[in-house]
Amino acid sequence: YIMNKIRVRFAPSPTGFLHIGGLRTALYNYLFARKEQGTFILRIEDTDQSRIVPGAIENLITSLHNLGLDFDEGPGKEGDFGPYIQSQRLNLYQEQAQRLLEKGFAYPCFCSSETLTNMRKEQQEKGEFVKYDRRCLALSQSEIRQKMANGEKYVIRLKMPDKHKFRFYDLIRGEVEMDSSQSDDQVLLKSDGFPTYHLAAVVDDHFMQISHIIRGEEWLSSTPKHIYLYECLGWEPPKWVHLPLILNPDRTKLSKRMNDVSVDSYLLKGYLKEAIINFVALLGWHSADERELFTLDELCEVFSLERVNKANAIFDLAKLDWMNGQY
Ligand code: GLU
Repeated sequence: YIMNKIRVRFAPSPTGFLHIGGLRTALYNYLFARKEQGTFILRIEDTDQSRIVPGAIENLITSLHNLGLDFDEGPGKEGDFGPYIQSQRLNLYQEQAQRLLEKGFAYPCFCSSETLTNMRKEQQEKGEFVKYDRRCLALSQSEIRQKMANGEKYVIRLKMPDKHKFRFYDLIRGEVEMDSSQSDDQVLLKSDGFPTYHLAAVVDDHFMQISHIIRGEEWLSSTPKHIYLYECLGWEPPKWVHLPLILNPDRTKLSKRMNDVSVDSYLLKGYLKEAIINFVALLGWHSADERELFTLDELCEVFSLERVNKANAIFDLAKLDWMNGQY
């Protein structure tokens, strides 16, 4: 066992085909692992089964493979392993949800979706922050036992601390401080036994011994919840690395319309994979000497998290066109 071994993961949800933003996250994780002689893991986060897009899992796996971004470990035989797939690891998350219940950090909630909808409506009408009002937290142990014995459906919620300031260090943005006073008691385990993203990600990141969580900025607001989960479970959190946003030239958020940004669509338009990789590598990162053209192997040598930009990245198609002419 090597201390401080670098282990990173790309953890897409199969809600669509691999797109430019996802590819950048995958690529930075991959490059960091290669540069540091670490391990790159692919983890399919498919616990929200209602949002799975047919073919997405296969597309994510084959796209990464075709671009040369192979992952280093996973379940299966040596030399023939697949990615980790969360829906195949449900008992792991259920076990930890149970531990959180026993430690009193989480509680069962029996509220129906109708109850929750009405609650939200009332809070909205009063202009209040919309969050679960904790009525199930008032249930006694015997009431809980009774409801469970009756087979009533329930979810498990994390009891977030009131008025707590979360401070953490992000390798790109430095000290971050966030307030939990507005945060909702997050559902950790759904009534069908599937975990939500937050529980599954933290449990996996712990057991997979992930050293650095490198992901898009849109996940920054989830980090306090994750840090709190690590605390409740008595685990050491990893290092946090949130990548800048990718914007269109007019500063709007990069189009969500999949056809515009799927990696496949660029390959179909005739862009070379070398150019796509290089373009995506420079979408939020710069080299020490402002050089702009690299092969994947060269990127593995020179990549470093210190030169990930703090500023948002601008998606400039003219740049991709220029790069495409250089390979
Ligand atoms: N499944 C999340 C996604 O689709 C992963 C977020 C994370 O990396 O923690 O981006």
